Amino acid sequence: MKLFDPHIHMTSRTTDDYAAMRRAGIVAVTEPAFWLGQPRTHAGSFEDYFLSLIGWERFRASQFGIRHFCTLGLNPKEANTPDIVDGVLELVDLYLEKEGVVAVGEIGYDDMSPAEDDILARQVEMAKNHGLPVMIHTPHRDKKAGTRRTLDLLREAGMPPHLTLIDHNNELTLEMVLESGCWAGHTIYPGSKMDEPRMVGLVQAFGPERIMVNSSADWGISDPLKVPKTAQAMRDASIAEEAIETIVWRNPIAFYAQSGRLDPAELEIPLPVDQRLLFEGNTVLRGQTPTVEMAAAGSDG
Ligand SMILES: [Zn+2]
Repeated sequence: MKLFDPHIHMTSRTTDDYAAMRRAGIVAVTEPAFWLGQPRTHAGSFEDYFLSLIGWERFRASQFGIRHFCTLGLNPKEANTPDIVDGVLELVDLYLEKEGVVAVGEIGYDDMSPAEDDILARQVEMAKNHGLPVMIHTPHRDKKAGTRRTLDLLREAGMPPHLTLIDHNNELTLEMVLESGCWAGHTIYPGSKMDEPRMVGLVQAFGPERIMVNSSADWGISDPLKVPKTAQAMRDASIAEEAIETIVWRNPIAFYAQSGRLDPAELEIPLPVDQRLLFEGNTVLRGQTPTVEMAAAGSDG
């Protein structure tokens, strides 16, 4: 079964992770723009980051047979840095036009500050202007109230639910998100918050419609193989293959294809790996023999 991780920060991960993900069946990812841990001190830092998401990282993924898409936006954490926000939003507006950008995100609430209200509303407006979906981060503290407030803001802003992915759901929020008509993402964390057995329980209760799972793997303690591990947990719990495939493959494709920049038919064809290729003169190799797997040879590795 082919797998899609719809929320993973590959910039923070290694080539070993890419290779392991491909071996586990992951052939496509979406990387949302986010916070780097170290707060950025000026808006211009974001331009190189956005360029890397649509350029180098996309190339790096391709070198391991993985198709890479991204979402661009000003993350909620840094929405609270007043000196940079206007400059970053100008860049977001510019870069939303680029190939491989399939949504505005991740945007949303962290502390639920007035600044976050303003930046979220402005980016939702941008998504509507560009005809793109939005990918929404929900706060980890006071999740239920934060998710409710997010849904209220989106409704008041006139953001269509079918173009909205609300992420980091759990047992407290899933029902209200599904009722709103939005798509519902679930991050599976190692040793905290949502895990595989709880995700299985949610799928048994709510079914696969508009449901996705992701790893949100980044520079913190996280696991880039949480999508394959959750698919296996669902299989072990006798959830139908059809339902599993809907969650880990068809739903992310259906959601992000609404951007017009992701072709579902193309995703069915394995991406040929050619490590002889260069990106602006650079390669992922350090003198190793390049792996070359041409065409649709059912490659694995
Ligand atoms: Zn994230």
